Amino acid sequence: MNKTLEGQVAVVTGGGSGIGRAAALRLAELGAKICLLDRVEETNDKVQDRIQENGGEAIAVEADVSDPASVENGIRQAGERWGRIDIVFANAGINGTWTPIEDLSPEDWDQTLSINLRGTFLTVKYAIPYLKRQGGSIIVTSSVNGTRIFSNTGASAYSSSKAGQVAFAKMAALELAPHRIRVNAICPGAIRTNIGKNTNRTPEAEEAKIPVLFPEGSMPLQDGPGSPEQVAELVSFLASPQSSLITGSVIYIDGAESLLI
Ligand code: NAD
Repeated sequence: MNKTLEGQVAVVTGGGSGIGRAAALRLAELGAKICLLDRVEETNDKVQDRIQENGGEAIAVEADVSDPASVENGIRQAGERWGRIDIVFANAGINGTWTPIEDLSPEDWDQTLSINLRGTFLTVKYAIPYLKRQGGSIIVTSSVNGTRIFSNTGASAYSSSKAGQVAFAKMAALELAPHRIRVNAICPGAIRTNIGKNTNRTPEAEEAKIPVLFPEGSMPLQDGPGSPEQVAELVSFLASPQSSLITGSVIYIDGAESLLI
């Protein structure tokens, strides 16, 4: 195995499940040391154990990405332990509550925005001082929902948070370019993870559904959703020197799902 990320340190938020888990395992395979930040301690610890069993180095820190002190603490642990941070995968997110706007409570709106968008801001903010030392790569997980308004009716808070992440990533790419820090947003289509299980989708959102040209969760390229491992390959490419000229980009990984909208 070519250890292209040997000696590098990566912070992965939402590393306990789905896309974050797959990316953490892949980055570790390529030689990076991994700091896993997730609010679910049990699954986060399991990913840490798996990386260590495979001969890699990892720490699992219980953290809520919407809480500044929690994020700062997690990132400091990585920085102090290994003396550097090169890669940040700002990925933790929730679907939250999907319901028509008139029924969406301000509290539910705030919860989605504070985990998905504020969480991305906080993760990047506290990592910058470490990244500035030698340069690095930040990858933000947005969604096809962030740029194309999708068939997921009721997802106004989710889509707004995902669109905000795209704007934030572009702004950060410009601001951080002089420090040799690249920032890109990825927009997955339907990926087989645990996120759907935790969606609070109301019957009203279900009823308001817009007809789609292909079955939900499917893609023009294939029947059924993509895998977290497919997304992890893109993340590790964007983390690596092979993508040295790519910054400020918004990259779809959706089997052409978004082209049909
Ligand atoms: P997932 O539910 O499998 O994993 C998300 C992880 O984030 C979980 O481990 C969860 O505990 C963690 N998390 C949630 N809130 C947190 C918080 N406040 N602090 C710390 N950790 C928190 O879901 P996933 O599909 O792997 O989602 C990862 C990202 O991918 C999300 O940003 C999501 O919006 C995005 N995304 C997913 C899909 C998809 O179809 N699965 C499509 C497009 C975008």
